[in-house]
Amino acid sequence: MRELTRCCAILVVVAAALWTPVGIQPPRAAAAGPGATATAVPAPAAMAPAQGLDPEEATEAYLATLDAETRARSKAYTEGGYWLGLIALAYGIAVAFFLLNTGLSHRMRDLAERLSKRKPLQTALYGVQYVLISTLLLLPLSVYSEFIREHRYGFSTQGLGGYISDRAITLLISIALLSVLLVVLYGVIRRAPRTWWIWGAGASLGFLAILTFISPVYLAPLFNRYRPLDEGPLKDRILAMARANGVPADEVYQYDASKRTTKISANVSGFLGTTRISLNDNLLERGTDEEIEAVMAHEIGHFAMRAASEYFVFFAVVLVAGFAFVRWGFDRALDRWGSGWSVRNVGDVAGLPLFLVLFSIYAAAITPVTNGFIRANEVEADLYGLNAARRPDGFSTIILKLGEYRKVDPGPLEEWLFYDHPSARNRIFMAMRWKAEQASGGID
Ligand SMILES: [Zn+2]
Repeated sequence: MRELTRCCAILVVVAAALWTPVGIQPPRAAAAGPGATATAVPAPAAMAPAQGLDPEEATEAYLATLDAETRARSKAYTEGGYWLGLIALAYGIAVAFFLLNTGLSHRMRDLAERLSKRKPLQTALYGVQYVLISTLLLLPLSVYSEFIREHRYGFSTQGLGGYISDRAITLLISIALLSVLLVVLYGVIRRAPRTWWIWGAGASLGFLAILTFISPVYLAPLFNRYRPLDEGPLKDRILAMARANGVPADEVYQYDASKRTTKISANVSGFLGTTRISLNDNLLERGTDEEIEAVMAHEIGHFAMRAASEYFVFFAVVLVAGFAFVRWGFDRALDRWGSGWSVRNVGDVAGLPLFLVLFSIYAAAITPVTNGFIRANEVEADLYGLNAARRPDGFSTIILKLGEYRKVDPGPLEEWLFYDHPSARNRIFMAMRWKAEQASGGID
């Protein structure tokens, strides 16, 4: 579901809010290993009587059910992902400097100015060219990370035709979205050259809210077929859980992720009237009813606690600070390196590559902060879900299935830096602690 973001770094923040935050698992990591079976992981802790349960021991027992090969694969996949992130940042910066140093960027602007006398249209025309050229330049890395690598680890089920079709849809959406965003943002910068970083952040946030609002209805269906979950006891239980927790959901949706990936995923998407809970067919296929209930209770937790609103507040702060950094850095970088760029000032759209370099560096630098915010949100949803579904063992076994592709027990620093969800170890520990305290009569 990250497709929207690949070609334009500025949409990273937008997309992060759209796709990652409220899923039980970040889409990029949510996959099942090639050796994964459809059977439930045995639940050693479930076999032990809950009375006198030691949460630490129960957590270890669960983690021990993961075989060495699966563990090694998920470790390699996760750690390779860190490097890939770093390489993507460096590669993106190199592409931006290529556009500036070769004069391509200012020629795109000059062409746009020849084609139209109107500033907003010039900005949009630059945006179209920028998306086309940067997509082309970033293509090798995109194909490697999204297609070749996913196949190598056995997570992708997609043929080349499907992948090309996804990329084409993404390209069209990116052209439309980035052009609109740039017209708004550069309009603001031209009108308020000194304070644009405040108003620009506000405008971007408004854009983000609209995007989040329309995404489940207009964008997500371009990539997947969504339909109501089949009627039956499972759906009844999920909807009953939603009603009991004050969540105004009268439908749960499933979508056909299996045409693309083996990854298990569920999410809450949308905003205000379009908010909805969806789960993918891999989860339905591979999860037991108990596990699916545990996952859906987690998603209901996000919905009930209005995660989307919290994210907007968080991103408001992130955007204002980020744009302030760009405002501070732009002129300095232009003075130092920009003599041959023909970029006039920050309000000149030809300087977009530099704008994005600065924003990407900022976004990378605050990754621990962003991850910390998201992780805290996920812990809340995990605890909410445990209380709502009362399925600590189902929760633990489905977390182990997610652990087939994400290292289950990272070091504390590694988790703090890179994990936007708690590690499997911490999530299972939460569940086992909940179970032990229930049995002790401490909560009931
Ligand atoms: Zn979540």
